[in-house]
Amino acid sequence: MAYIFNAGAGHQVIVENQGQQTAVATVSSSPGQQQSQRTSFTTGTWTAPPAAFRTPAGIVLQITAAQGQHFVNIAATGISTVSEAPNLALAEELPAQQGGMPAVRAMEPMKPMEPMKPMEPMKPISPVEPMKMGDMEMRMNPMEMRMGNMSISLGNPLSAGAGKNFCPQCGAAVEPSARFCTSCGHRLI
Ligand SMILES: [Zn+2]
Repeated sequence: MAYIFNAGAGHQVIVENQGQQTAVATVSSSPGQQQSQRTSFTTGTWTAPPAAFRTPAGIVLQITAAQGQHFVNIAATGISTVSEAPNLALAEELPAQQGGMPAVRAMEPMKPMEPMKPMEPMKPISPVEPMKMGDMEMRMNPMEMRMGNMSISLGNPLSAGAGKNFCPQCGAAVEPSARFCTSCGHRLI
């Protein structure tokens, strides 16, 4: 069972003893959004209900446990334990409610992920159409790569090897003496 302190202006402080741990959560709700912060400290088992006080520096929680008293300072900047008992003379004690720990909802196991849609099959690399990436061009069968003015032939060295030029239009290997590309008819000279 958690203790809920209403700190006003939509702020709630929720404290719960979980074994040797004291879990502290803050929830600020404003229209349209909810922010929560959650942390826990080792305090030991509570021997008395917790108390909360509003002080000029923020909300101070007083946890009374078997090992002694613990104070937790809750400010806009975060939740931290305080080693010394703060001066609570001018502090206003906040009324406590009992309830559930709303921050626990965030700890629920995640929903199983939806099964991934099967990927669309990749287009097979066309043996005819050269593949272009920027100024790089790749073509299969025989395998050739062209980058700018450079071209590398990776396959079939007998037919696409030395002494060949490549058509600037379609990339086909052409005889250096050829005036037109034998593949696409592009004028070469
Ligand atoms: Zn050509």
